Amino acid sequence: MAGEFANIIIDISHEKVDRPFQYRIPEKLKSLVRSGTRVTIPFGAGNRERTGYVVEVTDRAEIDPDRIKEITGIVKDSVSAESQLIGLAWWMKETYGSTMNQALKTVLPVKQKTKAAEKKTIRCLLSLEELRAEKQEAERKHYKARARLLTALEGSMELPYGETVRQLDLTTAVLKPLEEKGVIQVVRQEIYRDPVKGWERKPPVPLNQQQQAAADRFCRDYETGIRKTYLLYGITGSGKTEVYMAMMDHVLKEGKEVIVLIPEIALTYQTVMRFYRRFGSQVSIINSRLSQGERYDQFERAKKGEISIMIGPRSALFTPFSNLGLIVIDEEQESAYKSEITPRYLAREVAEKRAQMSGASVVLGSATPSMEAYNKALTGEYQLLTLTERGKKDSHLAKTEIIDLREELAAGNRSVFSRRLKELLEETLAKGEQAMLFMNRRGYSTFVSCRSCGQAVKCPHCDVSLTFHKSRSGGRLVCHYCGYSMDMPRKCPSCGSPYIAGFGTGTQKLEELTKEAFPEARVLRMDMDTTSRKGGHEEILQAFARKEADILIGTQMIVKGHDFPDVTLVGVIAADLSLYMPDYRAGERTFQLLTQAAGRAGRGAEAGHVVIQTYQPEHYAVTTAAAQDYEAFYRQEEVYRRLLHYPPFSRILVVWMADRDENILDAAMSADRKAAAEAAEAAGVVLDIVGPVPAPVYKLNDIYRKILYIKHENYDILIQVRNYLDECRKKHDFGSGLQVQYDIL
Ligand code: ADP
Ligand code: ZN
Ligand code: ZN
Repeated sequence: MAGEFANIIIDISHEKVDRPFQYRIPEKLKSLVRSGTRVTIPFGAGNRERTGYVVEVTDRAEIDPDRIKEITGIVKDSVSAESQLIGLAWWMKETYGSTMNQALKTVLPVKQKTKAAEKKTIRCLLSLEELRAEKQEAERKHYKARARLLTALEGSMELPYGETVRQLDLTTAVLKPLEEKGVIQVVRQEIYRDPVKGWERKPPVPLNQQQQAAADRFCRDYETGIRKTYLLYGITGSGKTEVYMAMMDHVLKEGKEVIVLIPEIALTYQTVMRFYRRFGSQVSIINSRLSQGERYDQFERAKKGEISIMIGPRSALFTPFSNLGLIVIDEEQESAYKSEITPRYLAREVAEKRAQMSGASVVLGSATPSMEAYNKALTGEYQLLTLTERGKKDSHLAKTEIIDLREELAAGNRSVFSRRLKELLEETLAKGEQAMLFMNRRGYSTFVSCRSCGQAVKCPHCDVSLTFHKSRSGGRLVCHYCGYSMDMPRKCPSCGSPYIAGFGTGTQKLEELTKEAFPEARVLRMDMDTTSRKGGHEEILQAFARKEADILIGTQMIVKGHDFPDVTLVGVIAADLSLYMPDYRAGERTFQLLTQAAGRAGRGAEAGHVVIQTYQPEHYAVTTAAAQDYEAFYRQEEVYRRLLHYPPFSRILVVWMADRDENILDAAMSADRKAAAEAAEAAGVVLDIVGPVPAPVYKLNDIYRKILYIKHENYDILIQVRNYLDECRKKHDFGSGLQVQYDIL
């Protein structure tokens, strides 16, 4: 795109970068200057030469054109990773509605000196099997300190030296012999890239026909210079990771770099080791447990070209690779890929933008793609690649049964276990196999439902469940989308039954009940409470994998991507818990959770059983998940979303405001609502405006919060509206206490 002027962010090492400055692009540089280009410009009163990054090229002069200075030159190596990331920050600011500073902070890690003191880690050089054998030997010989260390290494292939030595009470006398034996290596951070023996020993598994076809399609495209977004839609256990690795191999051989996003919760030892074994020390991993400084170090290594694969949660997107060739997003539908702080970016969208800027491809993978991604695959915007079979030959999808909890109640069974689930649990335990019990409790709000007919009390206007709010008179039910509210009913509005109540059973209660019902069984629980300790998450999974327990109880944490070959039974205690979340995505989330939960059973050679207990056995999210029929789910969900203007068939601009003064908040919100209507009229479009409504937590720390939803199918229109709202708001004086945030769904 040609343009007269460039908006430029001046020299990033200074903090005053919140606004771009405009410069004229000289004729001879017109073909070279684009967003992301690093240029030299005269700046300030003395016109000292500084460097800056072009964030936008435009024809519109923002000040008197005669006063606009000229760009003096282009800095060599101008498509550096950093300038690309700054371009990306600009795009994020524009797209998600944040300040440039907020966007830059997201994209560029804050420089922090790692302590000058030498930093060492203890790294395991053995495969997991070898490590276990080594540990058993240590236990047999009563080498207690050695066994402690080996156990710790089992849960994490790398441990910080100082911390470990202190916590496990180790001495050099313990470490030395292990180092000499080649069991561990004590490495200084600087020599991180030394090839590590133990991790490269596994050759890739031969791909099955479907996997090969998917990989080939990608590689052929890649060779001919085609770059696009692929959706790898493969059932649970179909071997998507093997396909990613084949694709990565191809891209790496072309001398390019790869970013792999994996939801934090699935970034386990198991997963990470697969990549290490295949690609060795060119792999680096970041996770939220790394300090800012450590993360910065990893990014520096990427910048220097010491590594070529970065694996991590959504922030790994900003790895400063300068020759990026591929971004893989595993479990693309995961809600963790959406940032909860401004800019509220969505990893998939940012990945596509970054890929476009650097000439890379994007591969999204999922057994239960988001409505957005699958819709794009159907319209041809994404290339669809499909895996319909399990990767391991003799592994099959489990047999799924739906149990109607209303019938259980009618038959006098008030236990959390249906008769069928109890029976299957007994069988599983008798055979010495393992079971998982899953409670998909999430979110902060509770809904109210009827135990006789299964209906949740819903808003008459919005088709979402009402949320229970405690009040002096007993309680009120409130709709967080339109503000409708009613007193807590004493009887079910649908069937008149008095058995109406909020859902309350949590995992802890379930653990107690399980131990009561199956006193012989060894039970493990995994949820926020049991995993808050560092490494707690990994420890529980490892213990379960070692068959130290018969039943694992947990929240959605336990259903994500773990491969336990001896699990033959999965019980979903109440599918309804996520079905009635006050969120238009409740059906989608339920389908995803149930499908993933079902996918945990029968990963090995034994046939698996899945039991889904629910008050809504006929709900399509439940029936289609039980049938593992994504297509059918998508079709039904599409009807609902189209009807109510929900994404992906419509986009929603969320305007979130907060103020200590309720009157100011109301005034600001109505002004926005009015301005949105004006913007619609000016643009000649019809906007569906909902609200303002109270936020799910209306008053927090004495600050009131409200939300306005503005729906339209065109994203660009919504961005225009948002910019107009910003402009209009400047004309009012709402005081400095008013906070405004945006989100785009
Ligand atoms: P997904 O990510 O699709 O759930 P994974 O990549 O984790 O699946 O694969 C599931 C299991 O199947 C893993 O243990 C993997 O090693 C195995 N597997 C995948 N593909 C093959 C194959 N072609 N041959 C043998 N085993 C395979
Ligand atoms: Zn009822
Ligand atoms: Zn409503």
